Amino acid sequence: MMMFSHLRPSLPHLLSLRLMGTAAARTVAARQSDLLSATLAFEDPSAFRVKSWGELLRALGIFRLCSFPVLVNNCGKLMSIARTLLGRRGFSLLLRPTVYAQFVAGENEREISQSMEKMSLLGLRPMLAVPIEEDLGESTGEKRYDDNMEAMLECVRMSHSNAWSKDPMMQLKITALLSPELCVKLTTIIAQQPYDLNLLVKAMDGEPISFPGLDENEVAHLLCGLQRLNKIAEASVNKVRVLVDAEYTYMNPALSLVTMAMMKKFNKDGAWIWNTYQCYLKESRSLLLEALRLSKSEGFCLGVKLVRGAYMDKERKLAEKEGRLDPIHWCWEDTNDSYNGSLDVMLEVISQKPECYRIIIATHNEESVRKAAKRMEELGIDKDGGSVCFGQLLGMCDHVSLTLAKEGYAVYKSVPYGSVDDTLPYLVRRAQENRTVLQGIRKERDLLRQELSRRLRRSLGGGT
Ligand SMILES: Cc1cc2nc3c(=O)[nH]c(=O)nc-3n(C[C@H](O)[C@H](O)[C@H](O)COP(=O)(O)OP(=O)(O)OC[C@H]3O[C@@H](n4cnc5c(N)ncnc54)[C@H](O)[C@@H]3O)c2cc1C
Repeated sequence: MMMFSHLRPSLPHLLSLRLMGTAAARTVAARQSDLLSATLAFEDPSAFRVKSWGELLRALGIFRLCSFPVLVNNCGKLMSIARTLLGRRGFSLLLRPTVYAQFVAGENEREISQSMEKMSLLGLRPMLAVPIEEDLGESTGEKRYDDNMEAMLECVRMSHSNAWSKDPMMQLKITALLSPELCVKLTTIIAQQPYDLNLLVKAMDGEPISFPGLDENEVAHLLCGLQRLNKIAEASVNKVRVLVDAEYTYMNPALSLVTMAMMKKFNKDGAWIWNTYQCYLKESRSLLLEALRLSKSEGFCLGVKLVRGAYMDKERKLAEKEGRLDPIHWCWEDTNDSYNGSLDVMLEVISQKPECYRIIIATHNEESVRKAAKRMEELGIDKDGGSVCFGQLLGMCDHVSLTLAKEGYAVYKSVPYGSVDDTLPYLVRRAQENRTVLQGIRKERDLLRQELSRRLRRSLGGGT
C-alpha cells in the first residue's frame, strides 16, 4: 500500500502534467494551423507563371468586364443582341477567343485534349461537363434527348480512355435527358405522395411500371429518360464517377429522386453516382441530412458535391413574381454558415466511414477551403485518400486550384466543352457568378496584375 502511494503521482502533479500535455498539444495544433494558413494563404502570384501573356491579359480583361454590374446584369440580353447583329459566325468569332476561351475547353476532342494535357501537367484533374441543359419551355423531344445521351456516353469514354487524371469524374445535367416540364410535374407529385426508390430502379431495369399522377405519354417519357440515365450509369460504373448537377428548386426534388434511384442501383460498392447540394438554399442542410439517412437505410454509398449555388438571381426573381418565400438564404453570410456547417457534417461522417462517403468541396472560397483543410487534418483524413477532393471551375480562381494541388490535395477543374451556342447559358451564369464571387475574383485580378508587372519588369531588364 505504501509502495503504491509512493509510486502513484500526487493529484496536483498529475493535473499539472495533464495541463502541460494539453498546453503542448494546443501549441502543436496551433503551430500546425498557422502552417496550414501560411501554405494555403493563396497570396502567391507565381501560380500564374504557367500562363501565357495572352492568357493573363484575357483573364484580366474578362474579370474587369465582369466588375461592371450593368454589363453582367444584362449579359444574357447583350449576348442575344450581339448574336442577332453579328450573325452566328460573327458572334462565334467574337466569343471564341475571349469569354469562351476563358471558361470552355473547346468543341472537339483535339481541342479538349490540348487543354486537359496542360491541366494534368499542373497537377489538376479535369472533370468534363457537357453543358447541355434545358429550362421550362425549351423541351426538345425524344430524339434530341437520345442525341444528348450519346454526347454523355462520349463524355464517359473521353474521361475514361484518356489518361488525363487518376480517378476520373464528369458532370451530368438530368434536364439534358428528361424534359424540365416532367421534372416540374414529378416535383409536385412527390411533394404529396413520395415515390418508392425501388419503383424507379425497376423502371431503369426496363420493367413496365405505372407512375401514379402521370399520364400515358409522361410515363413513356419518364421510362425513356430513366433508361437513358441507366445506360450512362452502366457505362461509367467502375470507371468514371458521375456527378449530377443541381438546377432550379422547382425541379430539384425530381432530379434528386432520380439520382437517389441511380445511387441505390449503382453505389452498392462505392460512390459512382453523386448528387449536388446547394447551400444557398434554406433547406439544404435538411436535404443533406435526409440523403445521409437514406443512404444508411437503403444501403448505398453517398457521393456529395457541395456548392453554394449558381441560380440565385433567377430563383429570387421567380419567388418574388409568384409571391412565394425566397428559397435562398437571406444574405451571403447565412449561405456561408450553411456551406461550412454541411462541410463539417460530411467530413465527420467521412472520417468515420471513408469507404461509404465522398465529397467534392466545390468552391472558390478561400476561407471554406482553409476550413476544410484544417478539419481534414484534425480528423486525420488523407489529402489524397480519395474520399475528399476540391473543385473549381475552369477559368476561375486558378490561384486556389494550383496552390491546393501543389500542397498535395486532389483538385478537379470543372471543364465544360461544346459549341458556342450550347455553352451560352453556362457562360452567362459564369459572368453573373464573377460578380458574386467577389473576394476570389478581386484577389485573382490582383495576382494576375502582379504577375504581369513582374514580367514587364523582367523584360525591361529589372529583377523578378
Ligand atoms: C466543380 C463545381 C461544380 C458546380 N456545380 C454546380 C451545380 O451543380 N449546381 C449549382 O447550382 N452550382 C454549381 N456550381 C457553382 C457554385 O454553386 C457557385 O455558384 C460558385 O462556385 C460560386 O460559389 P463559391 O463558393 O465558389 O464562391 P463565394 O464567393 O464564396 O460565394 C458566392 C456564392 O454565394 C451565394 N451568394 C452570393 N450572394 C448571396 C446573397 N446575397 N445571399 C445568399 N447567398 C449569396 C451564391 O450562391 C454565390 O454563387 C459548381 C461549382 C463548381 C466549382
